[in-house]
Amino acid sequence: MATQYDAVIIGAGFGGMGAAIQLKRLGYDDLLILEREDDLGGTWYVNRYPGLAVDIPSSTYSYSFEPNPYWSRLFAPGPELKRYARHVADTYGLRGSMRFGTVVTGARWDEDESHWRVALEGGDSVTATYLLTATGFLSQPKVPDIDGIERFGGKVIHTTAWDDDYDLTGKRAAIIGTGATAVQLIPEVAEVVSELTVYQRTPIWVSPKPDHRIPKAVQRLFARLPFAQRAVRLAGGSILELMMIFGVVHYKRFRIGNRIAEQWCRAHLYRQVRDPELRRKLLPRYSFGCKRPTFSNDYFPAFTRPHVHLKTSGIERIDETGIVTADGDRTEIDVLLLATGFNLWDANFPAIEIIGRGGKNLGKWWRDNRFQAYEGVTVPGFPNLLSLNSPYSYSGLSYFTTIECQMKHMDRLFTAMRRRGARVFEVTQEANDRFLDRMTRKVGGSVFSLGRCAAANSYYFNQHGEATLLRPTSTLNAHREAVRFPLEDYTYA
Ligand code: NAP
Repeated sequence: MATQYDAVIIGAGFGGMGAAIQLKRLGYDDLLILEREDDLGGTWYVNRYPGLAVDIPSSTYSYSFEPNPYWSRLFAPGPELKRYARHVADTYGLRGSMRFGTVVTGARWDEDESHWRVALEGGDSVTATYLLTATGFLSQPKVPDIDGIERFGGKVIHTTAWDDDYDLTGKRAAIIGTGATAVQLIPEVAEVVSELTVYQRTPIWVSPKPDHRIPKAVQRLFARLPFAQRAVRLAGGSILELMMIFGVVHYKRFRIGNRIAEQWCRAHLYRQVRDPELRRKLLPRYSFGCKRPTFSNDYFPAFTRPHVHLKTSGIERIDETGIVTADGDRTEIDVLLLATGFNLWDANFPAIEIIGRGGKNLGKWWRDNRFQAYEGVTVPGFPNLLSLNSPYSYSGLSYFTTIECQMKHMDRLFTAMRRRGARVFEVTQEANDRFLDRMTRKVGGSVFSLGRCAAANSYYFNQHGEATLLRPTSTLNAHREAVRFPLEDYTYA
């Protein structure tokens, strides 16, 4: 049977679109982009809770080859990211390749045909020479397993499924979670509800947010002189890179940097909260960098409002109308807002069942062995698969750094393969093992191994306690390897 597509890409977020743009540049036009949601944009389509904004400067949080001069703020609000995603899809002619509302249930390598068979919910399937999974890291929402949660009779909203029709005004609300999402949500919800109780398990390091409006004159300047915006991007990217190198990768030598960051966040808390008991509750007990810190100017002040309450005693159970904590306290609520994040290590990696050569199951193999992927993109035993959200793939702090690095890797790999007249690639076991050994060694000197991370409850760590999400190198190293990796690290057929 003829293979239907050059490539199937799973996910129409920024990762999937970047991969599609790269494949088109390489001359592969026969693409199918499958997306379970009803529209493109990935996380920026799914998330629409009040207060949503990017927490990386927007000039840096965008494709370098498609700058947007019209960001309204240094940290653009969520809807602008959605607009930008639509603009990219239109500019690069990707919409025609996208099929929405399509859930992929699994993919299997067909040895005889040398193609991937991708199974869709409902029983259909499609085939493609190349399979690219761009299903995101934070795409499987976590609903906490709290006793009685299913019995709660009021409204329950997870932040990834915001109900725009539900009016919070005057309601008694509870928010579970104090991660980056909650930090944005809490001040907004506090504005409208009559009572807000926040249930915190682990406090988060929060630094001041140097956010500001970008005047129209500056936007026009960026439009007329793109190099001016490139300079801003370079400055923003360099700051993020230094934070990553000193704060995460080379913690062993530069832990003083993390201490300074902790003092900076502590001073922010002390400036904004006078009550010593409240400060104590909001102060993290783990090293800065163990878990993603965030920026906010209105998070701490929200807790000083008389109708906002912070509970740090664990949740014991939820009943029909309220939440009971371990200290016996019970709070009546109308609405329960779950800012409880995502399940990475059980439900992701990979997000769908992927069966490679000889029946090798990617998820099972990762769990039975260790989480690993050569340069964070390819895995031995899985020919013609680019798994873009793999262990050690996230490089730097802006996701676009990772995306563009992977685009470069694709460029080198596909060019080498075609030069050999081949159409099948597979990374060698030896190259994969070498990469894993190096990443393991490097993690050893990072904040994840040497910092006080036990109390962080950080999703950077997998179920075995290994920090296998972030690539523990500089982004410069990641980019250099993407354009120079040894071509013999792959076999071509
Ligand atoms: P998160 O960082 O995983 O935070 C989830 C929160 O829910 C944590 O405070 C967690 O407590 C709590 N929680 C989970 N299960 C719980 C339970 N059973 N009982 C009590 N508390 C529970 O998720 P997130 O806030 O959605 O953020 C995820 C990531 O998304 C961020 O790190 C960031 O990378 C990204 N993000 C980006 C932006 C942006 O750019 N604008 C905005 C928001 C998020 P523990 O910490 O104790 O587990």
